Formats: sequence, structure tokens, C-alpha cells
Amino acid sequence: MEWKSIAAFIGCCFLSTGIFAQSGQKKAVFVIVDGIPADVIEKVKTPGLDQIKKAGGYARAHVGGDSGTITETPTISAVGYNSLLTGTWVNKHNVWDNDIAAPNYNYWNLFRFFDKQYPNKKTAVFSTWLDNRTKLVGSAAAKAGNLQPDYYFDGLELDTVRFPHDKDAQYIHRIDEIVTDTAAAVIKREAPDLSWVYLEYTDDMGHQYGDSQQFYDAIQIMDRQILRLWNAVEYRKKNFGEDWVIYITTDHGRDAATGKNHGGQSKRERSTWIVTNAKGLNDYFFNGNPGIVDIMPTLAKFLDIQIPREQLFEIDGIALTGKLSGTHLKAELKEKRIYLEWAPVLKEGDAKVWVAPTNNFKTGGTDKYVLLATVPAGTSRVSIDVSQLPATIYKVVVELQHNFLTAWVVPK
Ligand SMILES: [Zn+2]
Repeated sequence: MEWKSIAAFIGCCFLSTGIFAQSGQKKAVFVIVDGIPADVIEKVKTPGLDQIKKAGGYARAHVGGDSGTITETPTISAVGYNSLLTGTWVNKHNVWDNDIAAPNYNYWNLFRFFDKQYPNKKTAVFSTWLDNRTKLVGSAAAKAGNLQPDYYFDGLELDTVRFPHDKDAQYIHRIDEIVTDTAAAVIKREAPDLSWVYLEYTDDMGHQYGDSQQFYDAIQIMDRQILRLWNAVEYRKKNFGEDWVIYITTDHGRDAATGKNHGGQSKRERSTWIVTNAKGLNDYFFNGNPGIVDIMPTLAKFLDIQIPREQLFEIDGIALTGKLSGTHLKAELKEKRIYLEWAPVLKEGDAKVWVAPTNNFKTGGTDKYVLLATVPAGTSRVSIDVSQLPATIYKVVVELQHNFLTAWVVPK
């Protein structure tokens, strides 16, 4: 528990309510609720999520990268959180499991981009798991810039006096409740510009009981918690005229046989979902089976974060709102040619194919991208001769009018 932060919060900040509020200011919240496959969220009654969905939309989505390729990503909690935060799959962010042993902080997370551009804006993390702030956002990691959110409330799971660990994980339920209420109170009174809320209890019930009434009950509890967050957001919108967006998603599905496990690449373990009140959701959101990596660039777009081009070239996700020129890039190397295929959307402008034969970015360096092809928008297939460009990795970026598509090609 972060007593200092909470004391400061109660001691001073409540008094400043609203003084600096400006109409139309953009504010974003994203929530990860743990381990709920799409088929289950669609089956259980969730009136809270339904309210939010009505203002924006619901879509099935996925985690796990592209199965069988270099982006294949374990369907494990912290791995999924970091894919959301960085907009990249595990081959880049390097968080392979919940140990978070060696994150590659060269792939910046959303908080870091936001803080760099808007040092005076307020960020917040409310979480039933401490590592989300300390290791993933990176407040305890020098290489992540030691970025400390302005408001944070977490670490209660380490207080075994106040929250003795019981087999039924009721202590996690109690923590989720307090995390939710704190998040709702801070949103209502302080309106952080970018907030992350993480709730865990659903996954505990999934592990213990699998597909069961207990699991469904946990989802309904979660739904009521989301409603409390949504009410706080609605309160701000109504009373302060701020422009709020909220995204709720999950970090992985569960196995088909029992619903108790996850981590693998089965369809149900990869199957997730996104609920949001966002305006301007595109066809890719509704029909493209978007990935958890798409949420970060979508939030960046909403918050007007200008990501430098060389960092944009590394982001795997694309925006779920507004115009897109293409989606679903596949890349393959055969006999010294790279074969690219994607799904064109808007046929305006050109498609430029950039290739870097190095990966210095991974270690903090820069890569020189070479323009190897320019083709009219609407093109869906290109093949490129790389016989004169020997390399152990090719990083490919297709630059389209409205978005970039990225892929790594590694010779066998
Ligand atoms: Zn999880």
C-alpha cells in the first residue's frame, strides 16, 4: 500500500476539485479485467458494460500475436498487459511471463510517451497487482525512466495483515473493491488525464473453478465495478464538460476443456474482447478481430500524442478509430524475396515499403530504413528482392496514408 500517495491524495488534493477543469479536455481510462474469454463475456449478463457499449461499441479481439510467427505471444497476464501498454508483441517488449524478468524498455509504454509530451498532465494507476506500476509502467525501473504516476493505489496484495491470503481469493475480491472505489473517487474529484485500472478477481475464480457459476458471478461483480468507474466518468462529463474515453478489455481467454488454464495458443485462450464508449470506431474495430496491441495507438491518437517516426515504425498496433489505409500485414521470406500481403482499406495515396536490415532499436540504437518499393494504394501484394541486402533480420514497415503496418522477417 502506498500510504504516502493516499495521504497526499486525501490531505490536499480533494480541495482543488474542479478549479483547473477545462471544458473539452481529453481524458482516458483503460481497464484490464483479468482472464475472461469472449464467449463468456457475451454469455453473462453485464448491464454495466452494456451502458458503455451503447455509447461506443463492443468487439471480439485477440491476444497472443500471430500464431506460428515471430510475434507469437504467450496468453499470460503480464505479457498481455505489456502488449497493451507498449502496442507491441512479446518479440519486442520481452515480457514472457508474470516474472517480468527483463522487459525491453526501449519499446516505450503509453505512460512514457504521454509524460514526455505532457509533463504537466496527470497520470494514474489503480491496480490489484503492484508490478503493473513498478515494473511495467516502470516506476521502479531506471531504464523505463522511473516514471511515477501522479496518483497511484496498489500493493494491497502484499499487506497480509489487512488482507490475509485465503484459498478462495476473497482477499483479491476485497482489494478489487477498494481499488475500484479509489479509482472512481480520484476520477470524480481529480480527473487524471490518463488512468489505468487493473482488476484481478475474475482470473482467480477462473483458475479455481473454470467455467462455472463462481466464474460468472465474479464477472458480474466486475461489471458492477466497471459501472462505478463509468459513473465517475459520466459525472466528469456532465459537470465539467470533459471529453472522456474508456476502454475495457481482458488480457487472455481460457482453455476450452475446463476454463481453468491459459498461456497457450488455442482459439479460446487467444479470444478476448474490447468495450469502449469511443466515438468514430472503424470497421477494423468491429470486424477486423483487432489485437490488444491496437489499444495503445488508439489512446495515443485520442490524447494527441505525437509519437516520433522511428518509434512509430516499431509499434505493432493500429488505431481502432478513424481512417485506416490497410490492415493485417503478412510477411514471408522465400529465396531472397520478401513477400508482403495486406488488406487495403482506403485507396488514397501510395504505399511505401521500408526495410531495415538491422535491429539496433532493440538495444537503444537506430536503424536505417531503405525505401524498397512504392506502389499505389489499393495494392494488396508486393514482393521485394533483398538479395543485395543480406541480414539476419528484416524489419518491414508499409507506410500508408493513414497508418503504418509493421512486420519482422527472420531468415531461417
Ligand atoms: Zn491474466
